[in-house]
Amino acid sequence: MVKSLQLLFNAFGQLIFPHTCSACGSDMLHADAGVCSSCLHQLPLTGYHKQSGNAVEKIFWGRIAMQQAAACCFFTKKSRVQSIMHQVKYKHRRDTAVQIGEFMGHQLLSASWLPEIDLLLPMPLHKKRLQQRGYNQAALLCEGMQTVLKIPLLTTAISRRNETISQTSQQRSDRWENMQKVFEVSEPEKLTGKHVLLVDDVVTTGATLEAMGEQLLRTPELKLSIYCFAYTLPH
Ligand SMILES: [Zn+2]
Repeated sequence: MVKSLQLLFNAFGQLIFPHTCSACGSDMLHADAGVCSSCLHQLPLTGYHKQSGNAVEKIFWGRIAMQQAAACCFFTKKSRVQSIMHQVKYKHRRDTAVQIGEFMGHQLLSASWLPEIDLLLPMPLHKKRLQQRGYNQAALLCEGMQTVLKIPLLTTAISRRNETISQTSQQRSDRWENMQKVFEVSEPEKLTGKHVLLVDDVVTTGATLEAMGEQLLRTPELKLSIYCFAYTLPH
């Protein structure tokens, strides 16, 4: 009786708040899942976490001291990956973000460098955006990763101020300086001597990751690595 009521309730809920796959829109998915298993299996994996000198690492060459850098999937337009990112960023799909984080965690299990990582750090979101969205998608990715990897997660160690100056009206060098000021290591004592894995949803030019990384590397004996969900191929 209880079970059939539950089923009825779920069916009713599905009518009012359709629970669909964030990648393909199908409603054939587990109640706790954000992405259906068919889409998960078809994500375009990069395998970069097992490949030194990969394209994401190369972004940072000559720019910042990085131990490891990788992204889980390739980002292309009108793809499952794009759809997932859109749902996570603009459609309040926290469930999808956490599930993708778990997926990223499972991928990383085969990285030879994984045992060296001490902490997961989500790329911070500035407060205004955090208020609008209600969550930091990178922090949700880290939550998912943590359940698989059992590596501590710190969400308060680094922060991002609101960007007040219009970025378009400035010279490139001013923009860089401005971006540097935006990022802050608020709890350096928790990061001293640690190898941190900075996690973000997407890496394109690497500019924001580099700016955050630069601030992080001022912490004594800190080692930095980066892992993102998606990598956008340069055009
Ligand atoms: Zn799907």
